[in-house]
Amino acid sequence: MKASFSEYLIVGSGLSGLTAAHTLQKAGETDVVVLESRDRVGGRIFASNGIDFGATWFQTHHLQVLDLLNELGIGKFHQYTKGKSVLVYSTMAPEHYFENDPDTPSAYRIVGGSMALVKGLSETVEEQILLNTKVIAIRQTESFLVVETDQGLFTAKKVIMTIPPKIATRINFEPELPEKVSLAMDGTHTWMSNAMKVGITYSTPFWKDKNFSGTLIGQVGAVTELYDHTDFDNGQYALMGFINEGLREYSDEERKARILAYLTKYLGEAAMEYHTYEEKDWSQDWHTSCEAIKSIYMSPSYGNPLFQEAYMNNMLVFSGAETSAVYGGYMDGAIASGIRAAKQVMEG
Ligand SMILES: Cc1cc2nc3c(=O)[nH]c(=O)nc-3n(C[C@H](O)[C@H](O)[C@H](O)COP(=O)(O)OP(=O)(O)OC[C@H]3O[C@@H](n4cnc5c(N)ncnc54)[C@H](O)[C@@H]3O)c2cc1C
Repeated sequence: MKASFSEYLIVGSGLSGLTAAHTLQKAGETDVVVLESRDRVGGRIFASNGIDFGATWFQTHHLQVLDLLNELGIGKFHQYTKGKSVLVYSTMAPEHYFENDPDTPSAYRIVGGSMALVKGLSETVEEQILLNTKVIAIRQTESFLVVETDQGLFTAKKVIMTIPPKIATRINFEPELPEKVSLAMDGTHTWMSNAMKVGITYSTPFWKDKNFSGTLIGQVGAVTELYDHTDFDNGQYALMGFINEGLREYSDEERKARILAYLTKYLGEAAMEYHTYEEKDWSQDWHTSCEAIKSIYMSPSYGNPLFQEAYMNNMLVFSGAETSAVYGGYMDGAIASGIRAAKQVMEG
């Protein structure tokens, strides 16, 4: 099998991999290949019918996101929170209503959806990305690394590994990585890999017409969090939220019926008059998740110092949201790690 040679090779075309490729590109390093196992770029940023089924929000302290949006000329807008929000804290008690403090601005969303960020980044490195290419093994030789994929062999002087550490344990490293690194990889939960989202589009914003914000919160409900997901220019009205993981075991029809009934109960009959209804269960997605998934609701601590070091004779560097000490798990962390890794391979 003929190997393809490059100076730099990036495994994964999520936000971190694309940022790393973009950073290399900006520094004049054009001999870069990005290998991606999915048939699309973006990783945990993914939209369907204009709904963000992966990353959606960021905050004012997420400076890497803000910088990148500015650089790519992409706008931001606040999550819609006007009107009555609903809190369901018990099935035995009536719901509570609350209103957001207008002096406390809500989180930001990205104009065009989070995919706008992915599109903006991938446009600059499009030709270097190979989709449907699953990395299986990485072997060290004296002066380069051989990357084995299901599409053949690639070699590179430097490799940036951006896939979540937990699922990167599937890759066969030869020689093996130090045991402490393998253990750290295995012990690093992939942020949101257990999440299930629902997105529903409507021809009218019926909740707004009734002075509801669209926010519906409650651990006891069929959706634990629901939000207005109307796009920036009101081109499409939608609700999007997190499905209660207790519904994972139900059939698709039963889960959908329960979710729609729940929305109807708290937001009104018009919830049934939807245009499109879609779900995304990240725990069932091989490219993000693995069998030993645990539900984690608190943000675990990320950015293990072991992931900041280089391995395989200084030719392998880790990147990705979970490796970042800065807002690990989030888009901000993914961008920060991509920039750090690109600089590391250029300097090292
Ligand atoms: C449901 C959900 C909601 C979220 N909400 C938010 C939010 O509101 N705000 C926020 O800041 N963050 C949020 N996040 C987190 C955010 O999506 C991530 O921080 C970020 O997208 C991670 O980017 P990454 O490049 O590090 O990893 P990924 O996006 O996971 O990229 C890794 C890439 O590697 C590829 N890959 C995997 N295995 C292989 C292989 N063997 N060979 C080649 N390629 C491979 C994958 O297909 C993927 O494209 C959310 C995530 C999810 C799932």
